[in-house]
Amino acid sequence: MYQLKKCALCGTETELELSHIVPKMVMRALKKTAVGNIRNMDNPNVPAQDSEKHHMLCASCEDLFSEKETYFANTLFHPYQKKERIQFDYDSRLHYFLTSLSWRSLYLDLLDFTGNHVVGLDAFEHLISCEWNMREYLLNKRSDIGTIEHHIFFFEKIKEISGNTEVTWVRPHATFHRGIQSYTFCYEDDRTYGTITNMMGIMLITLYSKGSRENWDRTQIVNGNGRIEAKDQHITSVVGNEFTNILKTAQEASDSMSDKQKEKIIENLKAKAGQVKNYPIFQDWISDRELDKD
Ligand SMILES: [Zn+2]
Repeated sequence: MYQLKKCALCGTETELELSHIVPKMVMRALKKTAVGNIRNMDNPNVPAQDSEKHHMLCASCEDLFSEKETYFANTLFHPYQKKERIQFDYDSRLHYFLTSLSWRSLYLDLLDFTGNHVVGLDAFEHLISCEWNMREYLLNKRSDIGTIEHHIFFFEKIKEISGNTEVTWVRPHATFHRGIQSYTFCYEDDRTYGTITNMMGIMLITLYSKGSRENWDRTQIVNGNGRIEAKDQHITSVVGNEFTNILKTAQEASDSMSDKQKEKIIENLKAKAGQVKNYPIFQDWISDRELDKD
């Protein structure tokens, strides 16, 4: 956990609040609909209680973000998770919220990158300037974020997976719909840099730089009024690799789970056997099995 001294957004030296990277309500929704305990992929043997959080923002900057977060929760997140709607009309508050989310994740990843030299100079400089632009926008000092693009990709039921046939996707429905992740990726050969956040199948991908082979159809969130639909979305992107990485990490985590933990899960499922079909993950298991058959 990072322990910052100054507010990451406004720079004020004051008591900082514990900020969640992925909003708390996503974790709450995951817990509420879970069959058993929620597990953290970094340590599958200990049930996770909460999503990643850091002392990062002052109280007034937290307030600045929370109104837009509520807007996102009510306009998109909950209606989608409850399967009430697949079409969402939005205003500029959505763009602001998505910026605040990717910015938090990027800010912390840049602290990591600085210490560990994991990205090249071009990527690093570009990400730093994007972090700055986003911060100025979040502080209402500018009205746009330049060429940075936000995309929302809804992980709907997939019937087939095209592309890299060497990679087998293990349990994609259960993994994406029951997952919460956020991190920054860099494909330096393509010059595609971005932050990916999975909120239980609602994938936010913020592109700081977009290589020439990138093709995103019906996914972009504009800075203003617009409409997004959870259907007919198509992506041709290096981000496909990140989807594969998330699945691989989940598989490794489940492989490394101790026998005792596995036993606990099976016992829990047996105890709930009659009701398990009422949980959202049931449909994901079915979808994953249908995918395996082909
Ligand atoms: Zn602040």
